[in-house]
Amino acid sequence: MKPLSPNAVLGIVGGGQLGRMSAVAAARLGFRAHILTTEADGPAAQVAHAVTVGVYDDHDALRRFANAVDVVTFEFENISADGLDLLSSLRPVHPSGHILRISQDRIAEKTFLHDAGIPLAPFHLVESESDLQVAADALGYPFILKTTRLGYDGKGQARIHAPEDLAPAFARLSPHPLVAEGMVDFACEVSVMVARNAAGEVVTFDATENRHRNGILDLSLAPARIPAELATRARGLATDIACALDLIGIMGVEMFVDRDGGLLVNEIAPRPHNSGHWTMNACPVDQFEMHVRAVTGLPLPPATRHSDAVMKNLIGPDDMALWPQVMATPGLLAHHYGKAQARPGRKMGHVNVLFPHGGLPGEFGVQDALGPLATLADASAE
Ligand code: AMP
Repeated sequence: MKPLSPNAVLGIVGGGQLGRMSAVAAARLGFRAHILTTEADGPAAQVAHAVTVGVYDDHDALRRFANAVDVVTFEFENISADGLDLLSSLRPVHPSGHILRISQDRIAEKTFLHDAGIPLAPFHLVESESDLQVAADALGYPFILKTTRLGYDGKGQARIHAPEDLAPAFARLSPHPLVAEGMVDFACEVSVMVARNAAGEVVTFDATENRHRNGILDLSLAPARIPAELATRARGLATDIACALDLIGIMGVEMFVDRDGGLLVNEIAPRPHNSGHWTMNACPVDQFEMHVRAVTGLPLPPATRHSDAVMKNLIGPDDMALWPQVMATPGLLAHHYGKAQARPGRKMGHVNVLFPHGGLPGEFGVQDALGPLATLADASAE
């Protein structure tokens, strides 16, 4: 793939914060971002060179969008198979439709990863209540039941603690096909951002430790506080998956660290990822620039980190009420997504805090550094 020249147009499907931050990174490298979005004034549209407004299965909008760009990428994964085929017939699409289809469906994803020799929690496809009983007998209690498609931020899943939970959970999550997964008693959750370009160059950022609150990512710590050998293994797994998929672009790989120091991959997201936002301030080249470089055919510089970092998401009206204090606190490096309405559970922005390389403090130090956001962060330590 010949690298795109400055002023080439990067088409981004999706108009949210990941598109916004990708568009800014593209602009820094001299590219123009053209966004396909349902929101004319959404986070990405506000900073883009051009916008096509339309729903993601509107063939006319997809065609106009594709004809206006040099290469297509995604900031979200839930575009229809038809839409993908149409885009791919008109322009290079990175990551490929093949990868998107795998990541859209938990069963396809787990089957692919399993066949590639990647360690996973045990899983079973559930299409009927009798399948669910078979899965329960095999997995034992407790286990997790998830929809195979369109689940995010902990939505579309149920924890099954006892036989009497089976029928209600099945009724709530149906009519979708479901996947039953063994419950992992994890010590922590980590993720690795991996980027790969068409020339086959692969880079991984340091493994990140992630904490959730109400099913939504709340805090990321970089580097993850896990043994170096485990962190190296996590990066190796992410590299293996990127190569097995022939990835062109960036991908987040979420993993569990189990109590025995084993790694189990939970899911992959072939796009920039919330758990990579710390790279925006702690790395010379962040995840968004790495992504833009990968999809435009540019070389990938090393994914080095000059500082340790904590990333805290700003979610909903409660966190945004603290925005004036965030602005007034030195050391809180804030990123606002430009969303007009702060609804509960909505990601509105994030804050990065940097520490000297190797100087990530313990729990109290992290809380101190977060200043006005500390109590909210504290409540998340569950
Ligand atoms: P997911 O939608 O698959 O990303 O799951 C959301 C969150 O639910 C994860 O970040 C975990 O905290 C938890 N979770 C998901 N799957 C499992 C599992 N098999 N065992 C334990 N916790 C899980």
